[in-house]
Amino acid sequence: MDDYALVLNAGSSSLKFCVFQRPRGEGWRLAARGQIEGIGSSPQLSVKDPDGQCLTKQKLDATVRNGRDALDALAAWLRFKYGGSRVVGVGHRVVHGGSRFKGPTVITPQVLAELYELVPLAPLHQPYNLAAIEAASERLPGVPQVACFDTSFHRGQSAVAELIPLPRELRELGLQRYGFHGLSYEYIASVLPEVAPSIANERVIVAHLGSGASLCALKDRKSVDSTLGFTALDGLCMGTRPGALDPGVVLHLFQGLKFSAKEVETLLYKKSGLIGISGISNDMRDLLGRREPEARLAVDYFVYCAAKEIGALAAVLGGVDGIVFTAGIGENSPEIRERICEACAWLGVEIDDAANDSGGPKISTEGSKISVWVVPTNEELMIARHTGALLGLAKAAQERT
Ligand code: AMP
Repeated sequence: MDDYALVLNAGSSSLKFCVFQRPRGEGWRLAARGQIEGIGSSPQLSVKDPDGQCLTKQKLDATVRNGRDALDALAAWLRFKYGGSRVVGVGHRVVHGGSRFKGPTVITPQVLAELYELVPLAPLHQPYNLAAIEAASERLPGVPQVACFDTSFHRGQSAVAELIPLPRELRELGLQRYGFHGLSYEYIASVLPEVAPSIANERVIVAHLGSGASLCALKDRKSVDSTLGFTALDGLCMGTRPGALDPGVVLHLFQGLKFSAKEVETLLYKKSGLIGISGISNDMRDLLGRREPEARLAVDYFVYCAAKEIGALAAVLGGVDGIVFTAGIGENSPEIRERICEACAWLGVEIDDAANDSGGPKISTEGSKISVWVVPTNEELMIARHTGALLGLAKAAQERT
């Protein structure tokens, strides 16, 4: 009977997963990765093998309305595919670990209760992450579940980088800058020596540009600062979130425009950023294909913010040796990379157009003062590594994905 370990990354309308398998007497290897998308609308399961070959692509029953249903659908597929195997551990992405969780943690009822307290700080992600933990624990009683946090990698930043300049009694309640996308940055930091050895231990700015977007300043592969702060609303313009915003705007929404707290939350998490500016789409690929001035303005603002914040982190680092693009937009859009790099020409960045068009990994010219790279992220592999290490599943996730 083979063992297998699961990695789950549960969102509001999708459940991403990886299956690691350990055939009898052998080491761990990635067996499959996939997702259930369109939960609550038109759910669909798609799974690929490690070489990217389709294992299944199927429409699911419209009764798959929430994360629990999605997990049931995944369990049914796992039984069909790996019947007779046994799950020995589950690793979960959890967006917010607050100040208490500085590293991956085995989940107990007490840990879960503490993580629920952080829901207001990450309403777009945390409830879905925790629902998946609960659902998996119910379905797999006795199987250890591990939480891996997007905030942990940033712990260890300096006191000033973490500071929110409010009175101490408020800061003692946990008001500090946490930073997010840490699993992505940790993965990138882990592969830099192999992919980009010339900058691995230097001053690097990683641009995680996806539906959520942020930058992280790395020195010696450790997080020095990042653009996301107390919540995942700060910093860069995102698909549905505004990025950095004058707090006076929020006051005005409450006091002048009489918004309720719920309305402000919905506005900031779901209706701002690219979708708010354009009124067309939160999806960069869509916007790049449109001619409407609002679509262009949204893209222009996205590029403007990214370039501006690269300048800010360059100041924090006292100079930059490398820039790395990752996540959906960073990995797949030569146009956005080119535009951001053009705006960083003052730093000495010079892009090689052919290399940029073909996706790198190195996309700067030989003469560029700062080398620029495209490195695909792999948050699920990072979760698998942590889960394997914590549960003693030796070499659980050192295999290629
Ligand atoms: P992620 O959240 O990392 O999955 O990234 C999602 C974002 O990546 C969406 O805004 C997509 O439109 C964007 N994206 C994916 N592929 C491309 C592409 N080829 N060109 C531009 N944007 C892309």
